Amino acid sequence: MERKKLYIKTWGCQMNEHKSEGIAGLLAQHGYELVDRPEEADLIIFNTCMVREKPEEKIFSEAGMVRRLKERKPHLLLGVGGCVAQALGKKIFERSPAVDFVFGSSNISDIPRLLEELEARRQDGRRRDEPVMAISKIPDRIEDLPFVRQSRFQAKVTITEGCSNFCTFCIVPYTTGLLRSRLPGDVIREVSELAAQGYKEVQLLGQNVDSYGRDLDDPDITFANLLRALTRIEIPRIRFTSSHPKDITPDVIEVLAEDNNICEHVHMAVQSGSDKVLRDMRRGYTKEQFLELVHELKKRVPDVNITTDIIVGFPTETERDFEETVDLVKRARFGGAYIFKYSPRPKTVSYYKWPDAVPPEEKQRRLEHLLQLQKRITAEENRKYVGRTVEVLVEGEAKPGSGRYLGKTRNKITTIFPGRPEWVGEFVKVRVEEASVAGLFGAVVEAPTPTPAPTPTPA
Ligand code: SF4
Repeated sequence: MERKKLYIKTWGCQMNEHKSEGIAGLLAQHGYELVDRPEEADLIIFNTCMVREKPEEKIFSEAGMVRRLKERKPHLLLGVGGCVAQALGKKIFERSPAVDFVFGSSNISDIPRLLEELEARRQDGRRRDEPVMAISKIPDRIEDLPFVRQSRFQAKVTITEGCSNFCTFCIVPYTTGLLRSRLPGDVIREVSELAAQGYKEVQLLGQNVDSYGRDLDDPDITFANLLRALTRIEIPRIRFTSSHPKDITPDVIEVLAEDNNICEHVHMAVQSGSDKVLRDMRRGYTKEQFLELVHELKKRVPDVNITTDIIVGFPTETERDFEETVDLVKRARFGGAYIFKYSPRPKTVSYYKWPDAVPPEEKQRRLEHLLQLQKRITAEENRKYVGRTVEVLVEGEAKPGSGRYLGKTRNKITTIFPGRPEWVGEFVKVRVEEASVAGLFGAVVEAPTPTPAPTPTPA
């Protein structure tokens, strides 16, 4: 039987990308295969996220494009899930008649049932009086999904979902629920299976990985203990994201400092350098405490690459507060930073407590100032690698047909070099000749040893 075609558009973070792998895996069991273009699809899914951006307008304009596709292809279906679906629910149908069904942040496993319901309605000619949707009021479970992974050598593994921190600007606890941790045995089993399948790198995912286990009734279940268990699995690289400055513990730093498969990259959002703004954001640390942590990590973990997220234009951020952030960025010397302009999210404390007081042009000025500063620091930090040899996992060609390939170092710095297609998914050693804000550039001094072909077994 011919398989139906599925196109998934994903917004937002790596956790959402991984959820899309779960949607693809689940629907593969129901006769769908992924395609790269919406025009080819029988089913389009929008997997949305509103953590870092306000995507509603984009989502509804893309739904308008699907509506035009439906004129040519009346059987085409559109489902909307993720954060926006969780936050807007039924209203999505009011705003876009192109949407056929809606599912919440922990309702992916309901998609086949929703599709069956749509099919039943189509067959008996029922009109869409009741919306076809599944939204758990509060997302309360980590779904067990059969992932179709996008890469054959890099895999993502969720260890927690949700967050119980309630930073005042953040919508995560409202759209993805409170912290839920997977049991360590389940995580260890999944990583072991990936290692057995030949994966080279696993990325552990959670909104705040350092809070892993705090919702489970066992003091031995901690992020440090989980990492330690994973060091015993034969897989070359294990990464994790994101860390929270108030929750990262000395044991985690200890594991990072040891010679093992845990990579020396810590993505740790600071958000602001002003103690007043950090307090208003309810972040749980001060500027000096954060800088001490950065100092400790750099002292204990050779070559650690610390990257961060920063929000500019929080409602209570004055020029003086912004200068504190500039000072923090100069002193922390991050390897990279994602810098965002504050934008209010309904349901959050900051939305109700303070007007969005910093004018848009001032937010833009602060953003550009920090971006320029961080670019200069990133380039300077990268230049420290010139003359050194680094290990790189090759991800693919930098530009199609260029013959130049790219990959990441253990501490997650992009590295570009002349390469060969058969190196994709393998480790190479690159001697760094130049560096810039874009990463490291050099030549391969040690190519991968070709994996021997399996010996045929006698008949
Ligand atoms: S730690 Fe704060 S910013 Fe991060 S997900 Fe939780 S509530 Fe949001």
